[in-house]
Amino acid sequence: MKYETDVVVLGGGGGGMAAAKAADKNGANVILIEREEENGGVLNQCIHNGFGIHYYRKDLTGPEFKETLQEELANTNIKILNSAFVLNVNKDKQLTFVNHKGIHEIKTKALVMATGARERHFNSLAVPGDRVAGIFTAGVAQKYINLQNLKPANSALIVGSGDIGLIMARRLHLEGIEVKGVVEILPYPGGLERNVQQCLRDYNIPLYLSHTVTRVEGNKRLSKVYVSQVDENRQVIPNTEKVFNVDALITSVGLIPLTDPVKFVETGPGFITSNTNQTSEDWIFAAGNCTVVFDLVDYVSREGEKAGKYAALYSQNQYFPEQKVKVKKGKNINILHPMYIDPNERTKLYLRVSKTFKRAEVTVEPLGIKMIEEEARPSEMIEISIKPFKDKNLKEIEVSARELG
Ligand SMILES: Cc1cc2nc3c(=O)[nH]c(=O)nc-3n(C[C@H](O)[C@H](O)[C@H](O)COP(=O)(O)OP(=O)(O)OC[C@H]3O[C@@H](n4cnc5c(N)ncnc54)[C@H](O)[C@@H]3O)c2cc1C
Repeated sequence: MKYETDVVVLGGGGGGMAAAKAADKNGANVILIEREEENGGVLNQCIHNGFGIHYYRKDLTGPEFKETLQEELANTNIKILNSAFVLNVNKDKQLTFVNHKGIHEIKTKALVMATGARERHFNSLAVPGDRVAGIFTAGVAQKYINLQNLKPANSALIVGSGDIGLIMARRLHLEGIEVKGVVEILPYPGGLERNVQQCLRDYNIPLYLSHTVTRVEGNKRLSKVYVSQVDENRQVIPNTEKVFNVDALITSVGLIPLTDPVKFVETGPGFITSNTNQTSEDWIFAAGNCTVVFDLVDYVSREGEKAGKYAALYSQNQYFPEQKVKVKKGKNINILHPMYIDPNERTKLYLRVSKTFKRAEVTVEPLGIKMIEEEARPSEMIEISIKPFKDKNLKEIEVSARELG
């Protein structure tokens, strides 16, 4: 079958649903494509609260956040194609997708990529030892427990203290699995402070900072995990080994933005976009975790709305930026999004610092923007609002952070 539309949104998570809603609101014909039977993406398996505080001003669970967006989509003309997997996007603005009825094509004027991120696998850590059952990514363990009502282990150790690792520590504990600790190679936790408190300290689950997994052992099923302390260069310190007798190791060692199946736009590793979510290919916009990994779905959906709006305007020949100003990573900045700014439009700049600061001063020069952040950590995204600055005639702006004495 062949379809034709103004805007295709690829991915029906929090980013894609918000993009579809905004594209429809801005007058475009919209097709939303999602490979799963249901929309929602990661939201479906996150049954804890903490979603929507900024976007809906309500503290919702993941499925409640999804339902709220779903209700908004119900009152629109958006065509939603579920159980449909996009195989290819070509430069002629054509997508190929497959579903149970066969292979289909869509011709579009603009595309919003909202494909989310995938979990980094344990094998990428190159830990020696037996390759046994019982090693799961946190997302897989979360799916087993929250969606399939399965208990994947009796006792577990978690590697990685990002938000997903922290939330899974609490989840496993509440399901009666003995959580022996969370191991983190960095000297600080990788997740939000609120999650360290609510998921570990509240349940007396130990956090081993500056520690790493050095070996896994077992016969068919995991039985032992060896952990050692590391120095500031992440080298193992001899004679610091601890052995944990567990039948599961849950890995939460990072998310990688998913940019497939688009191969011909600038990435690094996620889609590099402007403040209007436009990529290096004019007709392709991107939002959510396929650009950078966001702390909160609220930011993902806000970005999704923007991508949907500008994709709709582009499809109706109403958006062609004359100029894009480069945003440069200055000192102590690890993650920066977006990397280009259309100076006619407002910008929400998201960044992560590269180390911890007691009191950081974040600057955007030469715009003269200064912000003070108490206890700035790489795990907490910092947000800066920038007004349009067309008159200044700039080619580049630079974002930096420094410790205030
Ligand atoms: C364990 C965990 C806990 C979290 N806790 C919180 C929290 O407390 N509060 C909060 O605000 N946020 C939280 N988040 C973050 C938030 O859930 C995510 O940032 C957000 O939901 C990501 O949305 P997304 O649309 O970018 O990606 P996703 O939700 O991953 O959606 C991407 C969609 O694209 C689809 N897709 C990908 N490729 C294709 C293809 N080729 N064809 C068709 N479809 C495709 C996928 O099936 C998926 O549905 C948490 C995340 C996790 C994993």
